[in-house]
Amino acid sequence: MRSGWSESGTGRPWRLSAKLLIASSVATVIGFSGICANVMLNMRRGEEMVARQSLENLASGIDADISRNIEVYDLSLRAVASNIVIPEIKDVSKAIRHLILFDHSTTAKHFGAIEVYDAEGRLTVDASTLDPVPKNRADEEYFTVHRDHPDVGLFISRPMLHRGAYSIVLSRRITGADGSFQGVVVGALRFSYFHELFGRLQLGDDDIICVLRPDRTIIMRRPFDLDIIGKRLSDLPRGKQLTMGASSTFSGMGPVDDVPRLYVRGASASPLAVVVGKPLDDIFALWRTEAIRIGAIMTALIAFVLAATLFLAREIRRRADAEAKLEELATTDALTGLKNRRKFDQEIDFEWRRARRHKTPLSLLMIDADHFKAYNDAYGHQAGDQVLVGIAICISDSATRAGDCAARYGGEEFAVLLPGQGSAEAMMIAETIRRKVQGWSDQPAISTVSIGIASVTPEPAMDWAELVSAADKALYAAKNAGRNCCVLAPSPALSMVA
Ligand code: GH3
Ligand code: MG
Ligand code: MG
Repeated sequence: MRSGWSESGTGRPWRLSAKLLIASSVATVIGFSGICANVMLNMRRGEEMVARQSLENLASGIDADISRNIEVYDLSLRAVASNIVIPEIKDVSKAIRHLILFDHSTTAKHFGAIEVYDAEGRLTVDASTLDPVPKNRADEEYFTVHRDHPDVGLFISRPMLHRGAYSIVLSRRITGADGSFQGVVVGALRFSYFHELFGRLQLGDDDIICVLRPDRTIIMRRPFDLDIIGKRLSDLPRGKQLTMGASSTFSGMGPVDDVPRLYVRGASASPLAVVVGKPLDDIFALWRTEAIRIGAIMTALIAFVLAATLFLAREIRRRADAEAKLEELATTDALTGLKNRRKFDQEIDFEWRRARRHKTPLSLLMIDADHFKAYNDAYGHQAGDQVLVGIAICISDSATRAGDCAARYGGEEFAVLLPGQGSAEAMMIAETIRRKVQGWSDQPAISTVSIGIASVTPEPAMDWAELVSAADKALYAAKNAGRNCCVLAPSPALSMVA
């Protein structure tokens, strides 16, 4: 039996089919899983892109609002800074000076009253009153920065308590006609502005908005936390490593809490940067639900396909084994366990063609029990059967090479096919069999065998029936020669090949 294939070569390769079924199922499962994973990853990327776009829009909107308000306020500061140095302004009354210096935009809800400080830091003009209470702000950063650096432009302070409210202070330098430092004009943007701005937005509980100065000082943050406001990012845990670089997005844990978020910075040219963040859990919540649902369905389908495949593969193997057993039964002689005549005919046909192809010799022994009728008559049919089994054992013990085929040819006749063996080797094997049978039996006179040997290297025009016929004739000659002997086929064409 050639493993995995039916011996005739015409049957289906069942074992191979079972392996092929498992391999194709596994490949299908891997393929579908790969496609599914790819689709899910694309969906995830899509969700991230949509979230990033909406965060960008949000950041840009906030940024635009802050920029516009600072710009409007800055225009008022510039106007005050340039008008206060007009010499005639000193000659008008306080009330007229107020009207000249301060427009109505400075009275907007969240803007603090504009103040003017002279070069020594003394309060000289206060938009909220004609008679300001004297005070000196020479130590404040919003004053010293302009005194020490003429080119600062608009200065935005760290968050601070200014005139009783948390604010960021905006200041500009007052420069005299000769370029000298004449003091500063100071305004404030109250935190209430940010609270109102952020309050108008529809935000999730863990969404954050952060307004940063260029030196990465936190000006404002939602959720509001006074402990964090005014700190630099680099002073917070993880803050040092946090840089968005050229890209305006960052995904991971921020400097303040341990919630992983997608952070997006608004693209603007304003002096303050706006960063908005949304928890990754919120961004991917829908996707996760979908992924779990599809994952569960895929797992169930894969389990089903694999279980069905294993079941089918087992069935195929079971059938293949059954077929192999059936084939074995159909090709084996029940009494002796040797190949039967049908199988022998297939084998000799196969080996004949192979020997002809490879131009190798092929030998055949035809073995017949001597005086077997008499043995049966003397000892009974059952005893005769035992002798046949014994002869079969002697034969199979002697023809042991792979490819040797020992068969029960019919009744008390046996045939042994010896592919690749010349007449000399065939003669030796025949002699071995004959001696074994003779030695095995208790009654040598009755239970012996005669053997006819034929050997040939097949020519294209020849047929294997000629080999059988030659071996048969040699057997007949052996019988005539007195039995219990081996005779090589007399035909020169069939015997002189060894
Ligand atoms: P020879 O030496 O010329 O071969 O004599 P022989 O008696 O062996 O030859 P013959 O052909 O006259 O008889 C063959 C006998 O083999 C006839 C039959 O009783 C016996 N025989 C055939 N098949 C079986 C079998 O399966 N079992 C048994 N016990 N005997 C069988
Ligand atoms: Mg016979
Ligand atoms: Mg006989």
